[in-house]
Amino acid sequence: MSTILIVEDEMIIRELIGETLSLEDYDVLQAGNGREALALLEKTSPLPDLIICDVMMPELDGHGFIEALQTNPKMATIPFIFLTALGTVQDFRQGMNSGADDYLVKPFKQDELLAAVNSRLQKKAKLSAYYQGNQPEPGEDQRQSGGEKTPTLTSEELALWHDLETALVNNEIYLNYQPQVAIGSHFLVGCEALIRWKHPQRGFISPGVFIPLAEKVGFITQLGEWVIQSVLQQWDHWRSLGLPSIRVGINISAQQFHGKGLVQTLKSGVEKYNLPAGFIEVELTETLLVKNVEESIQQLQNLRSQGFRVAIDDFGTGYSSLSYLQRLPFDVLKIDQSFVRDIDKNSKNETITATIISLAHQLDLQVTAEGVETWEEYHTIANLGCDELQGYLFSRPLSVEDFTALLSRGLETPLTPA
Ligand code: C2E
Ligand code: CA
Ligand code: CA
Repeated sequence: MSTILIVEDEMIIRELIGETLSLEDYDVLQAGNGREALALLEKTSPLPDLIICDVMMPELDGHGFIEALQTNPKMATIPFIFLTALGTVQDFRQGMNSGADDYLVKPFKQDELLAAVNSRLQKKAKLSAYYQGNQPEPGEDQRQSGGEKTPTLTSEELALWHDLETALVNNEIYLNYQPQVAIGSHFLVGCEALIRWKHPQRGFISPGVFIPLAEKVGFITQLGEWVIQSVLQQWDHWRSLGLPSIRVGINISAQQFHGKGLVQTLKSGVEKYNLPAGFIEVELTETLLVKNVEESIQQLQNLRSQGFRVAIDDFGTGYSSLSYLQRLPFDVLKIDQSFVRDIDKNSKNETITATIISLAHQLDLQVTAEGVETWEEYHTIANLGCDELQGYLFSRPLSVEDFTALLSRGLETPLTPA
């Protein structure tokens, strides 16, 4: 049984919330302002599992209260839901920055209250399981890979996870677009959407850090859905500006790929914007696909029957044999940077890459080289018949503004190397 502390100065609201929660079998504690709540917490043991707190209150308001909680390590980790009045976005931002986990805008419905409460309590249960190093309720991804011990989170990861959840609402997360260029003509033929996070205190955090974390804690699907929506919206915006239609690659993680919603999200997204599905290229890593080949084949067929393109990302880094290629229905093979790096000086990599490219072409696949940085690398992969490239030699990932400027030059203007 979970205990919930309600801190609210308006008695009617406080009692209404209390009644709703009692009916759901929660134990309820009540306080009329921050000071009362602190006094109550001092003499309450064990501490409540969740705090629901109004922002505006006499004596000690919600901000003051949460600040006081942050100074006590035991209390700082209690999940905290703010109650705000409509239109006080500023309050909300400040609340989230000071450590709240969620918020409800007044007036809210019973369902909304219960949904927020349940989701927070579930997270808390998961979190304490991580802390104790138990086998918690495994995330979907882990369930599929079977039997692996769920990794524990370091306090650094816990802090980052907390920040990541608020980052989306606070607009700290956005996309960059990296151009893809045709070998030979140097025309712009597509791009890849790459996620970015500018943390208000810590500056830029690499997707190489927060994507694996989001996968670990089960936040990746939500993040991935956001990426899909943002790309589609951006595509629609470019079209409204009269800019040429461009192919966009979207990275999809294992959990999102194996989950149920992916095809539906993409399908309803392109329908909403009346966007031809062929401009969306779903990027999936080789490692992800070979983990469960039969299921992957099915899901790839679902995607392609809706008209989406599919690219195999980071090709060569998995341990799959080339024979898998024949079984998986896809359109593009992206050769990993590690093969491209110094390919002009590494004859082994050159031989492997030559084999991959010729096999891919026999299967009617398009080949893109990733991470091309020098003209030497360019010439080597060009001689091997590679079709497209993506790499710093022509362009780093660009901000939306810079990519839009590039697009406005038209698709038949060769890119000039950086
Ligand atoms: P990736 O899918 O292999 O993306 C290519 C990465 O290579 C990007 O790093 C890009 O900035 C970098 N890159 C491109 N050209 C060059 C080059 O010439 N030299 C070098 N050294 N690097 C180059 P980034 O943006 O840091 O992304 C890292 C990884 O994070 C991505 O690898 C992808 O696995 C993941 N990621 C990024 N955005 C998303 C996303 O929206 N969703 C998911 N699930 N994963 C994402
Ligand atoms: Ca990629
Ligand atoms: Ca890649």
